[in-house]
Amino acid sequence: MSSRTNLYLSYKRTNEMEELVNPLKALAEENNFTLVTNVEEANIIASIGGDNAFLQATRKTGFKQDCLYVGVSTDSLGFYTDFSIQDMKQMIHALQNEEVEVRRYPILKVTVDNEKPFYCLNECSIRSNVIKTFVIDVFIDDLHFETFRGDGMIVSTPTGSTAYNMSVNGAVVDPTLLSLQVSEIASLNNNEYRTLGTSFLLGQDRTLTLKVVQDGNDHPIIGVDNEALSIRHAKQLKLQLAEQSIKVLKLKNNSFWEKVQRNFIK
Ligand code: NAP
Ligand code: MN
Repeated sequence: MSSRTNLYLSYKRTNEMEELVNPLKALAEENNFTLVTNVEEANIIASIGGDNAFLQATRKTGFKQDCLYVGVSTDSLGFYTDFSIQDMKQMIHALQNEEVEVRRYPILKVTVDNEKPFYCLNECSIRSNVIKTFVIDVFIDDLHFETFRGDGMIVSTPTGSTAYNMSVNGAVVDPTLLSLQVSEIASLNNNEYRTLGTSFLLGQDRTLTLKVVQDGNDHPIIGVDNEALSIRHAKQLKLQLAEQSIKVLKLKNNSFWEKVQRNFIK
């Protein structure tokens, strides 16, 4: 930690946020951090806001391998935010007393046709952009596994399993399991079209290929975390766990399962 002192702050530039962030900036400087405005000079990137702010911060900075990401919440604690802007003393205390640890979170690599890949931390989703269903041929490695017809599919990382994936009854997955989860959105099942009908997990060396059947309704919306890709016409998506992961600073006494319990049970 001691060698990392170049801090980049990622947040929505509104007056309200500036007011919240100013005391944090002052505290960081008092503690010998250098605030940098060029992300290339950073070795710590802090997002300020909710989980959505954290997703934005990782995406906009390109999932930097040489940086440590930190989520600072402005509201209640989420899945990527272990620290609260309302309790900065606790943050400094934790940093000084070795109550923090660095975790690696897997990210998903998405290649649309032969374009440059995209990365995401929560999930990639593919959905019909019209009221009609659309058809996807689903391949696991080279195996043509099923033909899906319906609204769409969600492919999530373990940390993304508590987000969109959960709304379609997917499983919550321990982030120490290097895996990706494939979930359906409203599949149509009849004698012609048949899908597995449940979510499934793929191991880290698998590749999932989704081929959009070119039948006229082939302009799906592709979402990566909280953004839609601007690709109008996609024929094929290749999804894999990325070789790289991101490093996230978290509190030792705030495990993933404590977050699940806090957010959904208690
Ligand atoms: P949003 O629509 O403004 O809010 C989605 C909610 O999900 C927010 O409360 C957000 O927390 C929370 N969230 C984000 N990532 C999470 C995670 N990994 N585990 C648990 N909760 C999480 O969108 P957003 O805040 O920009 O987040 C984008 C995410 O929304 C997408 O990645 C997708 O997973 C999810 N989404 C869900 C549905 C659905 O459930 N039907 C549909 C579309 C998208 P904060 O309030 O702290 O940001
Ligand atoms: Mn949000």
